[in-house]
This record gives sequence, C-alpha cells and structure tokens, in this order.
Amino acid sequence: MTIDHILREERSRRTAMWRGLRGQCPQCGTKTLFRKYLKISDTCNACGLALSGHQADDAPPYFTIFIVGHVIVPVALIVERSYTPPLYVHAIMFCLLAIIVSLISLPLVKGAVVGLQWALRMHGFASDGPENEKVEDNE
Ligand SMILES: [Zn+2]
Repeated sequence: MTIDHILREERSRRTAMWRGLRGQCPQCGTKTLFRKYLKISDTCNACGLALSGHQADDAPPYFTIFIVGHVIVPVALIVERSYTPPLYVHAIMFCLLAIIVSLISLPLVKGAVVGLQWALRMHGFASDGPENEKVEDNE
C-alpha cells in the first residue's frame, strides 16, 4: 500500500461522526478526542492523528441551540397545555432543562463536527498528497 493510496482512501462520514459523538478519535476509534470537557486533544495517543487542526468554531453551539430549541419548545407547550403551571414554574423548569440539555449535547455535537471535518478532509485534516504539492508548485 503506497502513501498515495492511503491519502486517497475513502473516509466514512457516518463512522467518523459516530466516533466523534462518542468522544472517540475519528480515525482509530480510541476514546482520545477530548482532553477536557470541550477541549480537543492535540493528537490521538493511539494512532497519532493530529487533531489540533480542526476548526469546529461556532458550528457545535449553533447545532446545539437548534437541537435544544426543538426539544424544549414542544415539551414546554405540552406541559402548558396539560398542566397549565404558573409562569415562574415554566421559567425555572425550562431554563434549567435548557442548560442541562445544552451541556450534555454540546460535547456530543462538537465531537460529531470534528469527525465530519476529518472525514471530509477539511481544514487541518486535509491530506498533504501529491495533488496539493502540484498546486503549491504552480503558484
Ligand atoms: Zn486515533
């Protein structure tokens, strides 16, 4: 197997996102993606994949807000229709629920985003194959 073949190897988006969601390295599946709650490790200790080149940026919070909003709002409407609690109960209950669901889902979403970036060879996960060297030579 040549280095060129390895660089052009297909990366499964589904597998990479699923591994990232579980905090695993998108390449080898070892649980080394995060070194802290939301801090991505610089490299995978098992396979040596450089993870520091990811650029998840604002995508994980954006998707987390999207998910949490679509979970909390229907639940709040169902609770209002069924039990009609006072407004302060709504405020306390759904603020706490939104914070808890956000804190749980944020690392899951960030891992999935980093996994997808790896599978798509985006940003720091781009291959340094011969085709990239040719582009640099032409400039
Ligand atoms: Zn790895």
